[in-house]
Amino acid sequence: MDPSRALSGRTLLTAIFGDPVEHSLSPAMHNAAYAALGMERAYAAFHVTAERLRDAIRAIPALGLLGVNLTVPHKERALRMMADLSNEARLLGAINCVVNRKGTLHGDNTDARGLELDLRESGIALDGKVAVIVGAGGAAASAVLAVVRLGAQRILVCNRTAARANRQARRFAHHLGSRGGGRPTQTVEARGLDTLTSPSTMGAAAIVINATPMGLKTGGFADLVYDETAPDCVFYDLVYARDPTAFLAPAAALNRRTFDGAGMLINQGVLAFEIFNGCKPPQGVMRRALMAALGR
Ligand code: NAP
Repeated sequence: MDPSRALSGRTLLTAIFGDPVEHSLSPAMHNAAYAALGMERAYAAFHVTAERLRDAIRAIPALGLLGVNLTVPHKERALRMMADLSNEARLLGAINCVVNRKGTLHGDNTDARGLELDLRESGIALDGKVAVIVGAGGAAASAVLAVVRLGAQRILVCNRTAARANRQARRFAHHLGSRGGGRPTQTVEARGLDTLTSPSTMGAAAIVINATPMGLKTGGFADLVYDETAPDCVFYDLVYARDPTAFLAPAAALNRRTFDGAGMLINQGVLAFEIFNGCKPPQGVMRRALMAALGR
């Protein structure tokens, strides 16, 4: 550690809670921003199990933490422990930020805005298009909201567990765009993973987003008819890794445009930094810190 960045009695802390958390790249991004801005603040990672989440959340005001990011598996349960919520957190049913407002805990979610910004910055246009989202957890909800905001017309939520896909589709029923105030012109439909092997459906997709950890532990991704997708179909994996993921590798082999979750991670982190600290971070510094940690 840079000795000039040693913690002192005046250092104010932000942090991330998760289980596991050792792999998190958020400390590298946030601490690089604090160092660049010369702020006497630091960002720590705490291994918090599901059983100790309530204790850890209660400790935020007690210890005077400015704000805390949440990662797997806390995003949905922690929502019920907040004094108040942003509209976006309420819609998504999950939080990735806890903000300590003079002892009162406010829950927010920067994942959907983080992904939306990355899609826009990457020049991906979805107005009137078909988007396929794989997964129906908290990250998938953020992906649905991001593509709704980009104007996708049909959004297919494909999940292993049907009940979860149905719940996800219902969540957005009141949030879909309608031209002229009539019936919604955008739809969110619940589907099974077998949709990924339908040539006609996949041939119509403008983007396929993986919002599951599939391929990480199990080694393989679900069957998907990559070669039936349009040449300009974009593949986006919310997972980020040193090497192309099991979801992205077959798409890259067919010369489709591929993106992993590093861009979303940077953008949600930049938004969280601003919420916690009340000032904009140097985005380039955070990006370089993340890319260095990823070995890119
Ligand atoms: P989650 O709530 O636990 O949801 C996981 C989803 O993956 C569920 O839909 C689950 O299906 C599905 N799934 C898991 N293992 C599967 C398997 N072997 N086969 C088929 N489906 C499987 O998790 P989450 O919070 O949404 O996060 C999902 C991923 O997104 C994680 O890998 C996370 O790291 C990543 N993420 C990245 C960013 C970023 O900034 N880049 C931000 C947030 C999340 P069932 O419903 O059938 O169980």
